[in-house]
Amino acid sequence: MSGFKPSLIGLLVLTAACQSGLPERPEQPLVESIPEAPSSADSERDAAVLTRIDVYGASAPDAAGARVVLSFEGAPLFRQKQLPAEGVLPARIAVELEDAVWGDAVPVAQSIERGGLLRVRLATPNPRVVIDLQPGASGRVFYLTDPYRIVVDVTRAGKPLKKRRPLVVLDPGHGGKEPGAANDRYGLVESELALTLAELVAERLGEIMPRARVMLTRSTDVDLSLEARCAVANAVEGDVFVSIHLNASPEPVRKGGITTFVLDTTNDRQALRLAARENGTRVSEVTGIQSLLAKHHRKGQQKESLSLAADIQRNALKSGRTVLPKLADRGVRRAMFYVLVGARMPAVLLEASFLTYEPEARALGTRSYRRALAYGIASGIASYLRDH
Ligand SMILES: [Zn+2]
Repeated sequence: MSGFKPSLIGLLVLTAACQSGLPERPEQPLVESIPEAPSSADSERDAAVLTRIDVYGASAPDAAGARVVLSFEGAPLFRQKQLPAEGVLPARIAVELEDAVWGDAVPVAQSIERGGLLRVRLATPNPRVVIDLQPGASGRVFYLTDPYRIVVDVTRAGKPLKKRRPLVVLDPGHGGKEPGAANDRYGLVESELALTLAELVAERLGEIMPRARVMLTRSTDVDLSLEARCAVANAVEGDVFVSIHLNASPEPVRKGGITTFVLDTTNDRQALRLAARENGTRVSEVTGIQSLLAKHHRKGQQKESLSLAADIQRNALKSGRTVLPKLADRGVRRAMFYVLVGARMPAVLLEASFLTYEPEARALGTRSYRRALAYGIASGIASYLRDH
């Protein structure tokens, strides 16, 4: 059985209380003995368990940022403290957990020293995870659900902007244990198609915009978490991030079509359902979490994302219609896709066609339609980059 789940209201109140200045406990000294896992005896039967700490994006020595993801069984209340450097202690972010323990496999300390991160470590007496920052780095904290994760995005101190070739980060959706949607009748699997399309887009960009560099978040059929994808794009300072998916519906579809999404809150039922499916969550989680995540929006970035989305939508549709003249335009829309949260560049998620709409499913099995879609997506990206 999983641990207790606090209501989202509770979490929101806690966050709000922190911001309005709850008296803070003095920070414990940070030179500590190796912490014991907090006891889970007695009344703490329902304590959440910190099961993993993953660090993404910090593989290159010059990473512009990094992301720390704390994964839990159960959902602990937490509060964050941003603490300035003092004496020998670096600036740091402490994520204080309430009613939580950590598993034996969680490392007590990991030295990173890249992407703004010095190290990630566990500390006691109150169980907390401390993220030590490199000089000048900053970070922000949010959470995702199903499973419950606390995410800390760290940005390295600004480096001088140098003129460089634009970098396009393409993200083929799903992969590995998560094949995404499928159409058995036509032998179509979303993860495979998304990768094929991404490879074709990369190839095409090389032809029409040789100046651009292209990077794929995955180039094989591997598991890749939603959090990892945009963390990688941030770390390499991508200029655009395009997550490629195929749509599907459990109900019969009367028209398929193409949609390009930007990250935003929405009340649209269809968009909520789609976001829940792509996030691997329930609809109630998406609606609950989006008000909290809305705070992390950068308005300027959203304007650019809308512009990128419009370019991709228009070009993919135009090119797709060379093969399927009646291909429907579902437009540029907004939804809460976890994969886009925290992106520091214009970022969109494309649903390139419907696996469950017969004419599109049939066409997706052909090389000509795949190529038409990919060429359109590439033209859209190139068009955006030329104007910006
Ligand atoms: Zn998908």
